Amino acid sequence: MKANCWFGKHDVQVVDVPDPKILNQHDTIVKISSTAICGSDLHLYNALVPTMEKGDILGHEFMGEVVETGGAVKKLKTGDRVVVSFPISCGNCFFCQRELFSLCENTNPNAWIAEKFFGHSPAGIYGYTHMLGGFAGGQAQYVRVPFADVGTIKIPENLSDEQVLFLSDIFPTGYMAAENCNIQPGDTIAVWGCGPVGQFAMKSAFLLGAERVVGIDRFPYRMDIARKKIDAEVINYEECDVYETLMDMTGGLGPDACIDAVGMEAHVPGVIGAYDRAKQAMMLETDRPHALRQAILACRKGGTVSVPGVYGGFDDKIPLGAMMNKALTFKTGQTHVQHYFEPLLKRIGNGEIDPSFVITHRMALEDAPTGYDLFLNKENDCLKVVLKPQ
Ligand code: NAD
Ligand code: ZN
Ligand code: ZN
Repeated sequence: MKANCWFGKHDVQVVDVPDPKILNQHDTIVKISSTAICGSDLHLYNALVPTMEKGDILGHEFMGEVVETGGAVKKLKTGDRVVVSFPISCGNCFFCQRELFSLCENTNPNAWIAEKFFGHSPAGIYGYTHMLGGFAGGQAQYVRVPFADVGTIKIPENLSDEQVLFLSDIFPTGYMAAENCNIQPGDTIAVWGCGPVGQFAMKSAFLLGAERVVGIDRFPYRMDIARKKIDAEVINYEECDVYETLMDMTGGLGPDACIDAVGMEAHVPGVIGAYDRAKQAMMLETDRPHALRQAILACRKGGTVSVPGVYGGFDDKIPLGAMMNKALTFKTGQTHVQHYFEPLLKRIGNGEIDPSFVITHRMALEDAPTGYDLFLNKENDCLKVVLKPQ
């Protein structure tokens, strides 16, 4: 089959690889009908996350048709149309029983590597480093789906691929980020990053009852989508001081909750940016946590900082003093996607949201290298790329 594989910094190639096989009775094989490129894939494309190996198949946002099932699979049969969650979860461990699916204890065969970095390992993730399991990803014609009964949701015929594909990751991710803000009537929620995750966090904040939502970015086309399609107010951080502007907008209180939908590769102007880039280049700091710094400083006292943005390791100049003295609540995590499958499919089905609003580019799987390039460089007004294997 054809698959989009990682070969190094800014080097992905669609090559022929062996077809996946059932390895365990709980597996299914899914023939991919649609797959997407995530902001998290850009961290791999920029070679910032360790333990990728040349030839690894990328991709953790995908859906398609079940073409083969292992003997222990109960819920699925050949021909079912499914979306697959990006965390791989067993359904039975301490964490899965509490629906904390991205923390599953049983799905990362290389947990010992992640434990060195994090103390404990999160769940295995498709196409996302050997530290997180070395699983083949779904930017391919076929994929092996372990624990298929737990990690899939069946899709009714009346919904298109584009409406449901993002149940695999970014819609639940934005939604969980907003849910983590414990939104009360009248609340103002500020969201750093108007990428796909930021867009879903903003939309979800409104769905969960926020009164005002403010999106922060520097790309006018992304801010326009937030303004026109979501009704968010927007701040261009290159044109004004973010902290001052947020204080002006909130009568000096600050937003009730701040969402960092930027993560480890924040664009950071000025002296502090040079500091982060130099330290990151010398491997003295793994991330550029500038959106997080601003979010902590701007958040109102007693508010919540919610972090869907991915961080990899050890970061500098995080204002913990502000966090403590302002009594902030901190919420984060890889998304517990399976927990959100049913309620969010319902919201799509009843027309509260059509997640396809983020799609700007549709391409054949073979064009994945072009897609990565456009998405990374924000060229051609690219917000989200969907790839279609033939
Ligand atoms: P993206 O790269 O398209 O979007 C990031 C946006 O942040 C861009 O529009 C960029 O201009 C903006 N930005 C950069 N620096 C900024 C700054 N200093 N202030 C404000 N905005 C700034 O990526 P995405 O797909 O939207 O993903 C966003 C983050 O969410 C990534 O870190 C990704 O890894 C993470 N993510 C996490 C999960 C999870 O399970 N927690 C799931 C999916 C994605
Ligand atoms: Zn993702
Ligand atoms: Zn589990």
